[in-house]
Amino acid sequence: MAAPLYRTNEALLAGRRLICSYNWRLLRSWHIQAVTLYPFILFATPRARVPEAIFRHELEHVYQVLRLGWMRFYFSYLWHYAVLRCKRRGGHHDAYVNIPFELEAVDAEHYKLTAAERAALGLAPRRRSPR
Ligand SMILES: [Zn+2]
Repeated sequence: MAAPLYRTNEALLAGRRLICSYNWRLLRSWHIQAVTLYPFILFATPRARVPEAIFRHELEHVYQVLRLGWMRFYFSYLWHYAVLRCKRRGGHHDAYVNIPFELEAVDAEHYKLTAAERAALGLAPRRRSPR
């Protein structure tokens, strides 16, 4: 059996509305590309300059929130960060990139957005390549 082209949890998105906001200078000054505060997703750059991988990364955080619930996800995220900061000596970045939710979101960057995911993010449908 052929492997799926992408992994998706798009059924979780049914009836949900994501609110994307772009060009957040504050995020740029903190060297953050995007942040998901469900149902909001804030991006550092204008929409045209956001790579699909970043949309997919943030969408994975949306799925994590929808699977666990808002409180449980954000509490758990911060808890993992705090524990990693205490256990490891690599500082902020080392702790951040090793949060299990971040590892999962980075992995998700390799998958293409489905049509339903693009719609939930307010992105135009993917153009078909000419034959
Ligand atoms: Zn992330």
